[in-house]
Amino acid sequence: MSTQISLQETRQLLEKANTIILVSHIGPDGDTLGSTLALKEALEQMGKKVTAMVDDNISSTYNFLPGIGSYVTPKEGDKFKVDLLVIIDASSLDRAGIIPSCVDAPHMLNIDHHISNTHYAEYLWLDDKAAATGEIILSLLKELPITITKSMAICLYVAIATDCGYFKYSNTTAQTMRSAAELLEYGIEPNTISDALELKSKATINLLKIVLNTITYYGNGRIATIEITHENYDESVDTDSFIYYPRYIEGVDVAVSFKAVESKVTRVSMRSRSLDVSKIALAFNGGGHKRAAGCTIYLPLPQAKEKLLEALEKGLETSHD
Ligand code: AMP
Ligand code: MN
Ligand code: MN
Repeated sequence: MSTQISLQETRQLLEKANTIILVSHIGPDGDTLGSTLALKEALEQMGKKVTAMVDDNISSTYNFLPGIGSYVTPKEGDKFKVDLLVIIDASSLDRAGIIPSCVDAPHMLNIDHHISNTHYAEYLWLDDKAAATGEIILSLLKELPITITKSMAICLYVAIATDCGYFKYSNTTAQTMRSAAELLEYGIEPNTISDALELKSKATINLLKIVLNTITYYGNGRIATIEITHENYDESVDTDSFIYYPRYIEGVDVAVSFKAVESKVTRVSMRSRSLDVSKIALAFNGGGHKRAAGCTIYLPLPQAKEKLLEALEKGLETSHD
């Protein structure tokens, strides 16, 4: 069980450490990457030696993020000794991949906003009302003895905008918008950032054509699923945006994407309007938020789909949201 700490206690912990490893979660998204890079630049301004690590490939979509080239991906057997290990935007330790096993640090801090957080780190700064970890990091940077730069602002804007669907999702609060507004004061351009993030490769659109054909309804039309079969799966093709299509169908409460990343490993993404999908994801050792969650099921796609749909249909029957 973690000791839950405040902004000021987090600040003290960071100030005491001279060498720090910041970890982004596997399946890295805009929030974990932007939050990590902004915090890295801030801590470097304070004279600290900071390394950003991720145990996964980073989608080329994020190539424009300042500092993205500095990520280190450790190999099995690597050993790093630092004063503090900070895990960012990850609700469970497995989301850090092999990194914790490669790092020798006397303290571990987790900065996160997932309601499903498993309290795995020694210290936890959790704000489950924040739309993104980026919002939490911005509040921290304002308390540190640093100057916030345009590159930090770009990273934090990407973190916030991507996790709240460009201010469309139900996690968007007045504070989310205030945070974004503050970041605009540093001269960033939301249109340039949105273009960089939303531009699709032809390969993505070609795969989307196939995937849209797999849309299927369950639970009297309240569930819509899409499938990326192992045959169609290509690691280099970004499919993160595909879930938007079933999500925006009239009458659909829960949209689910099944991606066969291996013949017996299925990655599941869920988006909902009323059902708490973080509970469903947790039951499959995943996690997330009420309206956006995910998990990995170690079964071929058809079996994984059957098991998940069973849980979802049961969830919809018993939910009275
Ligand atoms: P995604 O569908 O991958 O965009 O993820 C939606 C939300 O669920 C994000 O907040 C993720 O951090 C979380 N999530 C996705 N997959 C997992 C997983 N395997 N374990 C824990 N959380 C997850
Ligand atoms: Mn994330
Ligand atoms: Mn997040």
